[in-house]
Amino acid sequence: MKEGLVIKSTGSWYTVKTAEGEIHNCRIKGKFRMEGIRTTNPIAVGDMVDFESNKDAEVIVGIHDRKNYIIRKSSNLSKRSQIIASNVDQAFLIVTVNYPLTTTTFIDRFLTAAEAYRIPVRLIFNKIDRYRPNDMVRLSELKNTYEKIGYKCFEISAKKEIHLDVIKETLKGKINLLSGHSGVGKSTLINAIQPGLDLKTGEISESHAQGKHTTTFSEMFELDFSGYIIDTPGIRGFGTIDMEKEEMSHFFPEIFKISKNCQFHNCSHIHEPGCAVKAAVEEGEISLSRYESYLGMILEDEDNKYRI
Ligand code: GDP
Ligand code: ZN
Repeated sequence: MKEGLVIKSTGSWYTVKTAEGEIHNCRIKGKFRMEGIRTTNPIAVGDMVDFESNKDAEVIVGIHDRKNYIIRKSSNLSKRSQIIASNVDQAFLIVTVNYPLTTTTFIDRFLTAAEAYRIPVRLIFNKIDRYRPNDMVRLSELKNTYEKIGYKCFEISAKKEIHLDVIKETLKGKINLLSGHSGVGKSTLINAIQPGLDLKTGEISESHAQGKHTTTFSEMFELDFSGYIIDTPGIRGFGTIDMEKEEMSHFFPEIFKISKNCQFHNCSHIHEPGCAVKAAVEEGEISLSRYESYLGMILEDEDNKYRI
């Protein structure tokens, strides 16, 4: 029996790479069940698997424990989900404060989903070559806000190749997810980091995403300086994620930390007396935009579902 990393999945065939660099095309044997989840695909890119080579086939016979996985509902009608990627070491959210604007609401939704999945996030502020002084002021405000909470931030220009060495250093040897609005410079960044890496990265359309045949396809590309970038159409973000209203503050680390000082242990930080979170917002210790994102997510919560 050998073990290796799944680097591509079509839903029926899995490309597995061993530590020695051998590539094996495997099928699945038998049933792999995930506790409490009905999946269309039990194995995804990022999985470490055990496989056997027989005369006529190579067969995956076991999956190693995952440190995390990203899951998405196949469609609204179906109760089935698909695992999109496993063992993601870190997600990079590419942000532009202008051209186009990335809102704090969007950033915070992404961050909460990543917290829920237990995937560390780094923020990459791109296009610094293009910013006017007021854009730079905004950038430094945002950077302060997010670094204070513990999210590492980078300022780069993908186009002018400014500060890309530190990005490469951070990607190195890891399984990476790159995300961000269309137009923020993902393709430009990837091309600058590794020319010739022809990623698909395009957002899959809703109807396409729900098509039967494309749903389980996922792939990750190896960087020549080691490490992987997950390139699965349609996972620019994390999809829909189930969160209980009561849980929401767990995914805002700074709110969660201070909430221990609230008078009521089940404080929602909206209207209760003795709320330490509201006090911290008033004192500027918690950023107003973060608190507003929190409120927005709590208050619009109809069915505990968030599209990230
Ligand atoms: P994607 O949709 O996220 O893949 O974005 P692209 O990589 O296609 O970039 C969108 C546009 O932004 C293109 O016109 C790029 O040339 C431009 N762009 C990307 N990075 C930078 C940058 O660092 N500075 C400037 N000025 N433009 C950039
Ligand atoms: Zn409170």
